[in-house]
Amino acid sequence: MAAEKEDKTRLLQVSRLNSIKTRIIVFALLATIIPSVSMGWLSYVQNRKFLNQKIKQELRVVTSQVSRELDLWLKDRLLDVRVFSSSYVVLENLDKIVGQGGAHLENVVALRRLKDYLRSVQEKIVDYQELMLLDLEGKVVATSAKQATSVKLPDKWLPRAQTNKHTIGQPYYDETLQAGVVVVTQPIRTANERLLGVLAAKINFRTISETLKNYAQGEIGELYLITEKGILLVSSRPISATFLETKLEVSTTRKLFFEEGNPQRYYGYHGEPVVGALKRMSELAWGVVAEKERAKAYAQIARLRNVTLLLVVGLLLLIGLGAYLLGLTLVRPIDRLTGGASKVAAGDLEVDLPVLSRSEVGYLTEVFNDMVARLRQGREELAAINETLRKKNKELHELSITDSLTGLYNRKHLMETLDNEVARSKRHKHDFTVLVVDIDHFKEYNDTYGHLAGDEVLSRLASVFKKSVRSCDYVARYGGEEFIIVLPEIGPNDGVQAAERIRKKVVKEKFAGDGEPIKVTVSVGVASYPKDSDDPQAIIRHADSALYKAKETGRNCVVLAGETPKKKRKKSKSEGKAATRGGSK
Ligand code: GH3
Ligand code: MG
Ligand code: MG
Repeated sequence: MAAEKEDKTRLLQVSRLNSIKTRIIVFALLATIIPSVSMGWLSYVQNRKFLNQKIKQELRVVTSQVSRELDLWLKDRLLDVRVFSSSYVVLENLDKIVGQGGAHLENVVALRRLKDYLRSVQEKIVDYQELMLLDLEGKVVATSAKQATSVKLPDKWLPRAQTNKHTIGQPYYDETLQAGVVVVTQPIRTANERLLGVLAAKINFRTISETLKNYAQGEIGELYLITEKGILLVSSRPISATFLETKLEVSTTRKLFFEEGNPQRYYGYHGEPVVGALKRMSELAWGVVAEKERAKAYAQIARLRNVTLLLVVGLLLLIGLGAYLLGLTLVRPIDRLTGGASKVAAGDLEVDLPVLSRSEVGYLTEVFNDMVARLRQGREELAAINETLRKKNKELHELSITDSLTGLYNRKHLMETLDNEVARSKRHKHDFTVLVVDIDHFKEYNDTYGHLAGDEVLSRLASVFKKSVRSCDYVARYGGEEFIIVLPEIGPNDGVQAAERIRKKVVKEKFAGDGEPIKVTVSVGVASYPKDSDDPQAIIRHADSALYKAKETGRNCVVLAGETPKKKRKKSKSEGKAATRGGSK
């Protein structure tokens, strides 16, 4: 029964994960997270694409412009040297010095004119670090510098000069000039196409640097020029290392040249993550690189990502809290209902839940309260019916063991009591005594005074017997005008005394007759446990035999079982009758 109740209570408890509150929260969070994350992701992807395109455009524009400008500049320089090399001053004076057969002739004036010319031109154009005239053996004939410096002539300068072509050499660091230079040679031919030598110009990177600086403004972080081997020639920013000592990674260089015009992500020569694109120069195997710091370039994206994340987290918190509160408002009354139902299931009907809202749950609570009230009322009614039934049963039981005329216990109850008394006395090793009391000549009494008067006698004697014994003694109507009195813990002798006392009390009683009071006598047979028997029926039989002897002896006397009384003196006929007129002895 208790286990069943426990099972019911357990059924009413809902697992936390399956609870409505958890479901609402999970649903609300999913409903928030799915659209917001997908929208956030979409806008992130779109923005990233847009930004990549913007970066590509920017890098492309700037590298194209710079490379075009540098190409133009180079073209101008090459044009310059061609013009200088074909100038009258150069041709006439160099011819004088180099001579017809290529032999050197001392001509101080010619040399001075050449030097003056070279210096005047070099001073005019800042890009020329030094201008020199060389013979076909590569020896310096005249220079714009105060003293002749060494020169690294480009490979194949001579064969190219012979085919009347200019040559652009590899850039190098000129120790004397303390600057990075690139040497350009231009063949010098007379009017009749005789090759006199070459004009070599050491061109510095000043203009290139200025151009790069000019364009490296605004969004572009850095612009620089690299060779095909990734060697940095000049940058919009000052380079701390010695000329030609700064290099890009081989893989980065390859990527930039192969994917010309497309933005690449790599680590720049200063080690920072950057995004950059390259544009080749047309005349030279060099490339113009425009770079942006990756963090700065994608700052917008990072900001967008952070704002989106912040928004999503904020939304989640807000919606989660809202869902939690909604769950609480829904679940709390249900929890209260569950608790109430558990109590009712456990038998407690004193439950009255508060109705806090007019919602469906509030209505359900009202219905629940009403149901419990009805159950309570039903149980109270049932309890009242049970109480009535119990009383009725008790009354019925009383009736079943009571004699209706005298109010004493009846024979059925007597036999049960005797059985119990035998058992109890056996247990406690006590004895008890049974008196069988019989009214003398009662038939006559009835005949004389009527049956109703007889009933009156029976009733009065019953109360005499009850008053004459202890509260623990037991009095029953055995049948007709016979009574049995059980005296617990009383032996045969005391039993006889008690019987005598009762007999005398009866004698003293007076009953209403035809004007005169009438006396009634009783005869008593006494038997005891365990003296006479330990069987209730046998004890009664023994007491009955003693009663028979008492009757025989002359009535109105007490006889103990197993004893033979002396016969009373024969009385006159009228004295022999028990029911005698008052006063007669
Ligand atoms: P004895 O002295 O030998 O006992 O003679 P007795 O007349 O009393 O004995 P008997 O057995 O012959 O008669 C018993 C009478 O008790 C018979 C009957 O009329 C009467 N009696 C039995 N039950 C009732 C009763 O409930 N009411 C009345 N009024 N009389 C009863
Ligand atoms: Mg009798
Ligand atoms: Mg009798």
